[in-house]
Amino acid sequence: MSSQHILPKAILLDRDGVINFDSPDYILTPEQWLPIPHSLQAIALLKKYHIKVGLVSNQSALGRKKISPNIFQSIHSKMIQDIEAKGGCLDHIAYCPHHPDDGCTCRKPLVGMIQASLKAFDLSNAPESVMMIGDSLRDVQAAVAGGVKPILVQSGYGDADMILKKSQDIAPSIQVFPNLWAAITSILRAYPCS
Ligand SMILES: [Mg+2]
Repeated sequence: MSSQHILPKAILLDRDGVINFDSPDYILTPEQWLPIPHSLQAIALLKKYHIKVGLVSNQSALGRKKISPNIFQSIHSKMIQDIEAKGGCLDHIAYCPHHPDDGCTCRKPLVGMIQASLKAFDLSNAPESVMMIGDSLRDVQAAVAGGVKPILVQSGYGDADMILKKSQDIAPSIQVFPNLWAAITSILRAYPCS
């Protein structure tokens, strides 16, 4: 082979707008948690390729008291069950429960959750081997700040053109895909020697 390709060692995923459909009114019940088509299969593909999967999710609905910790956990139980039913898994789950005014260090665009995930995967010294897939500018900002490779998907509810433009200001060569399935299959195709 003329060139060697190395698969990412881990991929961090935002939740809302990446794995499941997002809503400006937050996801407040397990019934409202609806996977974007093929996102669960995309996560299962990563397991097949032995790529670790981490969740990195702002959940200020908790800090805003719009949802109880119990209901929140039942949403995550459903998510985990649905992912496992398709053959995938989340190897690490990080979420920020804080209100934006709490002054925490985890809420994206800050890097707390990315650093925690890298640590959990023993990749703190190799952030360049990790990708972060998100649908918002905050995801891209956190990825850039954390030294991991940002990937943008346009399956959220925000203004996709505006998000892409602002993302390109801080990550000019950022790759953009319509959704998680397109992103993951493209990433895996880009590494034919794996
Ligand atoms: Mg999102």
